[in-house]
Amino acid sequence: MDSLRSAELHAKAVGLIPGGVSSPVRAFVIAVGGTPRYIAEARGPYLNDVDGRSYVDLCGSFGPLILGHAHPAVVDAVREAAARGTSFGAPHEDELALAERVVASHPSVERLRFVNSGTEAVMAALRVARAWTGRDLLLKFDGCYHGHADALLVKAGSGLATFGSSSSAGVPAGTTRDTAVLPLDDEDRLGTFFEEHGESLAAAVIEGVPANYGLLPQRPRFMKLLERLCRDHGAAFVLDEVITGFRLGPGGAAAHYGLNPDLVALGKIIGGGLPVGAYGGRESCMALVSPEGPVYQAGTLSGNPIAMAAGRATVETLLETDHYADLERTTARLASRLQEAASEAGVDAAVPHMASLLWILLQEGEPPRANGQIQKASEQRFGLLHGAALRRGVYLPPSAYEVEFVSTAHDSEAMDVAVDGLTGAFQEVASHG
Ligand SMILES: *Cc1c(COP(=O)(O)O)cnc(C)c1O
Repeated sequence: MDSLRSAELHAKAVGLIPGGVSSPVRAFVIAVGGTPRYIAEARGPYLNDVDGRSYVDLCGSFGPLILGHAHPAVVDAVREAAARGTSFGAPHEDELALAERVVASHPSVERLRFVNSGTEAVMAALRVARAWTGRDLLLKFDGCYHGHADALLVKAGSGLATFGSSSSAGVPAGTTRDTAVLPLDDEDRLGTFFEEHGESLAAAVIEGVPANYGLLPQRPRFMKLLERLCRDHGAAFVLDEVITGFRLGPGGAAAHYGLNPDLVALGKIIGGGLPVGAYGGRESCMALVSPEGPVYQAGTLSGNPIAMAAGRATVETLLETDHYADLERTTARLASRLQEAASEAGVDAAVPHMASLLWILLQEGEPPRANGQIQKASEQRFGLLHGAALRRGVYLPPSAYEVEFVSTAHDSEAMDVAVDGLTGAFQEVASHG
């Protein structure tokens, strides 16, 4: 049964906001069923809703909260920044400090620019890439998400078609004509594409680790091949590290795979839970950005002092001690306990994980490396699991395609609650046959 007050508020919200939510997956309705929980407060690994229920949070606001909710260092930084003023429309020192931190841990980022979201970061990076190459064509991969800019709301065509169609109404055909879509993990298709279109390609963009259609880690050789083909054909190699930046480690996926992207998009963790994005890269690219160069890009609230303070506190706290080995260990342990619980309940499941990312895929067999391999039945089973987990105090991301995020606040107590709740939830799924 849905919570009383949450359901009431949601019913009211639907009259004011499409789906009652500010971003579609939060609505629960299509992906998992039920109605969203209204959150009253969140602390460490827990979310508390307006009906007085507490949940171990494995959604983590979809990525930014690597320190968990309301980390004291972040809250203090935000409070102090807010007291100094909410927006200056002028540069300030936290912005500079965060820029220094990001540049210091990303060898391929010589300079950067702050924006307000991951969407803006990728959109601006691709604008720069097009200016840098003097070309228009973009390449993206089916199974990667890069925000909701028009040029990237393109889905794969059927079969061997390279140029897809818009995945959203309201995107002009002219826009999608300039974006090619290829499957992940397919070196042959990639090679053929570059033979045919490499000379007109402005940029290829890929997620550091595809984690928006489930967790689809690519083989290192695929990532390196893409980088090399871009280089050989004079196209920009753009790495979307909005999730992986400071998640896979201080140097993100670039460091993990030994890549040297021309441009990088960041977001999520570098804002510590406030709206932030950043794009940066090679000096010859960033020198094109206004006011130094001809690529226009601006933002009233870009480099906002509260957001910069939250991002700075998050990144500094994260880098003070090496949390990454612990995070990876905690996540691997959670994955193996969930795998075991699922198999004891008799539910087919794979629980792939990487760093502090984890994915619960409710189907038989090896986890996929490309999109399009999730069965309809596993989506339905995930809907059941999601509801059953909620009733047992575990907040999973509300879609079979979203990954779980583990934070430094997920202590053994929270993990035990999560495993107990999900063990019961797997049994409930099994009882539905
Ligand atoms: C979340 C995300 C984005 C978009 O960021 P927003 O802040 O939601 O606009 C872009 N790329 C990737 C890989 C993401 O996960």
